[in-house]
Amino acid sequence: MPARAGGKVGALSQMSFKAEPYWWEDRGWNREALVAREVPESCDAVVVGAGITGVMAAWRMAQAGLSVVVLEQGMLGQGASSRNNGMVVPYLKPSPHELEKRFGPEGAVPYLNGGETAFHFVRDLIRDRGLDCDLEDNERFVIANRPGDMAHLVELAEAYNARSDEVTWTALSSDEVLEQTEVAGSEGGVLVRGTYCLHPGKYHARLVELAHAAGVRFVEKAEVTEIGAEGKSVSVRGRAAPIRAGRVVVATNGYTGGFAGWLRRRIIPVRAYMACSEPVAPEVMARLFPPARSVTVAKRNLFWMRTSPDGTRVMFGGRAGACRGGLMRKAEDLKADVVAAYPELKDMGVSHCWEGVLGFSFGQLPHVGTMNGVHYAAGFSGVGLTFGSWLGDQLGRLAAGEEVTAGPFLSSAFETRPYYFGQPWFLPLVIAKMNAADRLDAWRQGRGKG
Ligand SMILES: Cc1cc2nc3c(=O)[nH]c(=O)nc-3n(C[C@H](O)[C@H](O)[C@H](O)COP(=O)(O)OP(=O)(O)OC[C@H]3O[C@@H](n4cnc5c(N)ncnc54)[C@H](O)[C@@H]3O)c2cc1C
Repeated sequence: MPARAGGKVGALSQMSFKAEPYWWEDRGWNREALVAREVPESCDAVVVGAGITGVMAAWRMAQAGLSVVVLEQGMLGQGASSRNNGMVVPYLKPSPHELEKRFGPEGAVPYLNGGETAFHFVRDLIRDRGLDCDLEDNERFVIANRPGDMAHLVELAEAYNARSDEVTWTALSSDEVLEQTEVAGSEGGVLVRGTYCLHPGKYHARLVELAHAAGVRFVEKAEVTEIGAEGKSVSVRGRAAPIRAGRVVVATNGYTGGFAGWLRRRIIPVRAYMACSEPVAPEVMARLFPPARSVTVAKRNLFWMRTSPDGTRVMFGGRAGACRGGLMRKAEDLKADVVAAYPELKDMGVSHCWEGVLGFSFGQLPHVGTMNGVHYAAGFSGVGLTFGSWLGDQLGRLAAGEEVTAGPFLSSAFETRPYYFGQPWFLPLVIAKMNAADRLDAWRQGRGKG
């Protein structure tokens, strides 16, 4: 791939640029009608956080006959659930080989099965309930920049192909990558078929509607500041009396604050960014980004591109780390990565750029469980669209006293580290190192081809 090219957000877009998710534009919901005006003094269950996980847990408990109130500090779904890339994949963050190294060949199986269960859970939920959220088959190219990346992709392809033929991984040479994606100068790549992409804003909105129809009460601008003894009440900022609850469920993932310090100590909040282009000429989109294509560049600090559900725009993201200079500057940086892959998009305008916070666990695996009498699910480590949905449902079952089938995600220890209190001081160093290595690779590639 050519060395990084410069890119400008574009004069026109600077006037209409929005520092909020494109996904918020058109969710097809009447949010106001879904929000309760009053908070009851008591209920069977309080859920903290109205992202995918909290909504799924609330919906499950309502189906079990409990009276449920969801308290959200901002707007419904204002966290990562309406800010993500909308990829529905049957994987965890650690590769099969990493899982085998940690848990042994047999011990890794329940984790890998869990990825597939979460994937099927989301797909079947959307299909069975007819949820309008632009679910589409995804054709995903992962492109290698370095020979080492290609070896890793081939290893992944072999491991996943050996497990199932539902999702297929095909290794591609650099010529095949060029021919099929028009990305030049790569070390090759893989084409993954059988996964899905969706509109995350619509997906979350449909879940809220389902939960609301089942009787769940949603309250916005209700920040929980404290959980009472044994998880039997919560205090809400600005309200004199705590809300009494039969049980408390915490679903705040990467946004977990001091009100649940025990959980915060186990979550590494990671900021990531996404942006969206102005509409691109249809003939260019048809050639570079046919319907539902996504392209991921396997850099150390991952970078991805996909089409908007209506096929008119390029959506792109990655570049975890700080946001120095504001979101418009970040949009320029992200666009430069698009232009490095597709130089002909150098004049593309950027209409939106936003950030979101992912919740990683130290082991990069999701967890569901009960601590200090409070139920939680968190630490989805990049795959919360699937795992937040499935484990959200499992969380609701756990809190309602029903059978839980979350396997190792329920039983394994949720680690923290000595002197870690939720401020990941080490992250800037890690990300700076990844970015420097990526820049060095780009420079080497530029020299190699120059
Ligand atoms: C840029 C980006 C791209 C991503 N892409 C993908 C992808 O393609 N596929 C995938 O599987 N995953 C992806 N993810 C991850 C996925 O979005 C998350 O893992 C998932 O949305 C987590 O859902 P959640 O409900 O647990 O948390 P969130 O959606 O983050 O919800 C937590 C909520 O808790 C609220 N809250 C926090 N504290 C309080 C309090 N004290 N009182 C009341 N409310 C509170 C917050 O305001 C927030 O709304 C991505 C994430 C980002 C940021």
